[in-house]
Amino acid sequence: MKLIFLGPPGAGKGTQAQRIEETFSIPQLSTGDMLRAAVAAETAVGLQAKDIMARGDLVPDEVVVGIISDRIEQDDCANGFILDGFPRNVAQAEALDVMLSEKSISLDAVIELAVDPEVLIGRILKRAEESVDGPRQDDTEEALQHRLQVYEKQTAPVADFYAGKGILRTLDGMQEMDEVTAQIKAALQEI
Ligand code: ADP
Repeated sequence: MKLIFLGPPGAGKGTQAQRIEETFSIPQLSTGDMLRAAVAAETAVGLQAKDIMARGDLVPDEVVVGIISDRIEQDDCANGFILDGFPRNVAQAEALDVMLSEKSISLDAVIELAVDPEVLIGRILKRAEESVDGPRQDDTEEALQHRLQVYEKQTAPVADFYAGKGILRTLDGMQEMDEVTAQIKAALQEI
């Protein structure tokens, strides 16, 4: 099963993707996690991405497209994958289309978790406080406001892109976590 999880920062994509990863034995591919690992390892990509991420902007499309293209070639993606945090704008979605058709892969579904913007800031600041690894650099109130603006402007249109292809499933991300998981599983059973 080849899936995309879409939703604003704090919508619960990561948590839900981890649960679906276990149920369907397909890896969750989080561009945010991969980029943070690159920053920590001080690779060329990491050095390029560090300041951009800290202020909540998007790293260049060719960087993330390259990372995903390499990653989905790996053996553990043979049965599918969950893209989490990618594509994040329409140009990335178009690049993904080209990449997947070159590899003869097609997407099964795009799961969008919808959450009211007012709830998101509270959720993320709470997550930052509770994090055992310490807060992320971009979990300050200022960077967070910026990430939400970037989402509205650049990422929200990605949902329309996939709605046009008939594979978008929008679910209510404001429900209890277990209920959201149940709804995702139900939606996936239909495909
Ligand atoms: P969140 O969903 O909480 O904003 P992520 O971990 O998905 O967090 O992403 C953190 C940061 O990593 C983003 O703000 C952006 O700078 C960078 N990033 C992640 N994925 C992409 C992507 N597909 N394109 C560009 N930048 C990305």
